[in-house]
Amino acid sequence: MNELDFKDMINDSPFAGSPVKPNMLGDNTSFQFRCHRNVKCWNACCSNIDIPLTPYDILRLKKRLDMPSGEFLKQYSTPFEMDKDGMPGVKLKPVDEGTACQFMTPEGCGVYEDRPTACRYYPVALLTMRRADEYVDRSAYAMVREKHCLGHLEDKTQTIEQYRVEQGVTEYDQKAHAWRQLILKRKSAGPAIGKPTPVSNQLFFMASYDMDRFRAFIMSPSFNETYNIPVEVMALLIADDEALLDFGLNFLRHALFGEDFIEQHPGAYEKRLERKRAMAGQNQEAAFQKKMEIEDDKYSNEN
Ligand code: SF4
Ligand code: SF4
Repeated sequence: MNELDFKDMINDSPFAGSPVKPNMLGDNTSFQFRCHRNVKCWNACCSNIDIPLTPYDILRLKKRLDMPSGEFLKQYSTPFEMDKDGMPGVKLKPVDEGTACQFMTPEGCGVYEDRPTACRYYPVALLTMRRADEYVDRSAYAMVREKHCLGHLEDKTQTIEQYRVEQGVTEYDQKAHAWRQLILKRKSAGPAIGKPTPVSNQLFFMASYDMDRFRAFIMSPSFNETYNIPVEVMALLIADDEALLDFGLNFLRHALFGEDFIEQHPGAYEKRLERKRAMAGQNQEAAFQKKMEIEDDKYSNEN
């Protein structure tokens, strides 16, 4: 990979805050590393975690643990802000009053087949970035070298691409691609779309991470009054988490950037506006009634 001018790029490193070497590596870069059960540092990396989760990571883990997304998020995740505008992210939550991963066992990872993307990549860091004058994102990599990790001293050399295949990361990257693009677009749009409102951050959180709540949202009467989702598509979204995740990302592009991905019922916007006005009117009326009751009480007490 040629050296790129990274000055005007927005990057989205899943290893923010980690000791990532600043040199950018490509698919064909070779590196020396091997991790196995007999290394002296076994489990050291899982004893002090900083693992951000992608929506697909959550989907895989909640399926493995057979729990709803809300319960998974509560038990196994902790929120963080991905940028200064408060874009919501989630990380794996360590054990109570400790730094170790809740899935760590003496034998290694207790959810190995469904471990998150960042665990698969380690000690490689994926950097997704986009030049300010381009509409497509690029991937580059960096090497994480932490003193405790002795895998770098093991006698095995491979390219980053070979390592990605061995760790089963290609499928994870494919499933997370659209989400990473959305994040880059939100970061690069910056002032063009203004500071995201709390509601748009809540929508982002729900459609990205809390898919069972998002499913309930798209099944609600108010959603269906607004959006025209064909019956067979709705049936698929109700039954299939991956389809729901893809739909959620399209929904976010529609809600955050006004992209025309989801068909609305004719006049839906006007009806929503009318309902909001009626509700505002009812609230005003209720506030007026309350004020009159207080005045009446005051008057009765004085007499
Ligand atoms: S999920 Fe598995 S590999 Fe990742 S930090 Fe936890 S125990 Fe380690
Ligand atoms: S070699 Fe590195 S990745 Fe493997 S157990 Fe040790 S610290 Fe973890």
